[in-house]
Amino acid sequence: MTAPILVWLRRDLRLADQPAFHAAAASGAPMVPVYVLDDDGAGDRALGGASRWWLHHSLTALDVDLRRAGSRLILRRGGAARELAAVAKEAGAREIHAIVHYEPWWRKAEGEVAKVLNLHLHDGNYLAPPASVLTGGGTPFRIFTPFWRALEQEMPPPEPLTRPKLTAPATWPDSARLEDWNLLPTAPDWAGGFRKAWRVGEHSAQDRLDEFLDRVGDYETARNLPSIDGSSRFSPHLHWGELSPRHVWHALSGKRGIGAQSFRRELGWRDFAQGIVAQFPRYGEESFREEHRRLPWRDPRGEAKGDWAAWRQGRTGYPIVDAGMRQLWATGWMHNRVRMIAASFLIKHLLIDWRHGERWFWDTLVDADYGNNAVNWQWVSGSGVDASLFSRIMAPLVQSPKFQAANYIREWVPELAGLSDDDIHDPVFRPTGYPAPIVGHREARERALAAYAQVKSGA
Ligand SMILES: Cc1cc2nc3c(=O)[nH]c(=O)nc-3n(C[C@H](O)[C@H](O)[C@H](O)COP(=O)(O)OP(=O)(O)OC[C@H]3O[C@@H](n4cnc5c(N)ncnc54)[C@H](O)[C@@H]3O)c2cc1C
Repeated sequence: MTAPILVWLRRDLRLADQPAFHAAAASGAPMVPVYVLDDDGAGDRALGGASRWWLHHSLTALDVDLRRAGSRLILRRGGAARELAAVAKEAGAREIHAIVHYEPWWRKAEGEVAKVLNLHLHDGNYLAPPASVLTGGGTPFRIFTPFWRALEQEMPPPEPLTRPKLTAPATWPDSARLEDWNLLPTAPDWAGGFRKAWRVGEHSAQDRLDEFLDRVGDYETARNLPSIDGSSRFSPHLHWGELSPRHVWHALSGKRGIGAQSFRRELGWRDFAQGIVAQFPRYGEESFREEHRRLPWRDPRGEAKGDWAAWRQGRTGYPIVDAGMRQLWATGWMHNRVRMIAASFLIKHLLIDWRHGERWFWDTLVDADYGNNAVNWQWVSGSGVDASLFSRIMAPLVQSPKFQAANYIREWVPELAGLSDDDIHDPVFRPTGYPAPIVGHREARERALAAYAQVKSGA
């Protein structure tokens, strides 16, 4: 019998339009799909709690799907290269296929795996590989708008690949048991809201895509209003690779209105963010702009301890910020407009370094993504390659009525549910139990601008 081929899975947990599966299947050899939980390899970028919850359910769904097709998923825990080499030895395999990933710890692991096995890397999690979208001078882009124009020129992406025909090996290598990895919270079980909010796995992602196609025409306006579910909510499915962006792109073909066009552009942000991480692997770890590294941030373990706790718990006294932070805690997701407001509030109103917020999101988002998270935090902070100005300080009390957030606040801050649409954004009389603002807008704004002026003047 031909030697089996390994398929190394990471955040590409699907069978349709999955080039690693497709290439392995095309060889006609038996295939061994493997997932390795490599916490040490990721160092302090090991998966956060919300990601672990999603991963558990996504691996379960993939295994069910593989078994229906006569295959199964092999699970291992430990260093990726060591575990994959061990699985290959047990299976009698030398070849391994995987989709390329751009997080620095995955690039490193790919290098290590390539030393012990014949590793074949495929593009497949983005509309176009970062290295293929370049400026006229042949360099990667740093600014979104010209990047998007260049990416659009390359669209449509290749047609999605069909689901592969899987052949099982004569014997299966050993596998760990998913239940033994304890990816789900137990004491306490904080995932009740997650279970209500999400259906995980490739088939659920496809259902969500089918449902979204009917309302993409309204996306341009609806996406900005947190009170209605106007965006796609594809982000965890895309992050975990349950949904291929090329598949999404082709599903939208024939949709020509402003809604679909605006949605395609948002997908483009995802590619842009990966391109930034591919160029600057430490983008999630420090401000890109040098002067931002010298900002006199307030210490969340010292003077800003109370403010830092209030932000995480959704008790800042700014209803729109609190609603967002509570939605995040309850469901592992936050509306994009509110992510911007909450992030800006932490950085500018509380003068807390964006990296603390980024880490909190890393732990609490089901779509926590090294590239998307860092690029967006650095955009809001004004410290990134392509960023808004630090001096552009969002006013949460203006944003909240502007984006009609009253019902969103009612849902996530029930203490305020009885207030009118006019009062709820900034209640004059605060119901018992709801805090006063932890900082005034004007005073916070002046403090932030003074801090920035200090670094600009070199003082
Ligand atoms: C501070 C901050 C942190 C963020 N952290 C993450 C993160 O860790 N993971 C993540 O996937 N997104 C992140 N985003 C981007 C954005 O908020 C989410 O992608 C979006 O809210 C997901 O909802 P959706 O799927 O309904 O998006 P839709 O509006 O329906 O967009 C479709 C898809 O396009 C991509 N997309 C949309 N907006 C962006 C964007 N600004 N940047 C990159 N990709 C985008 C996502 O994959 C999204 O699923 C962050 C934004 C901010 C302001």
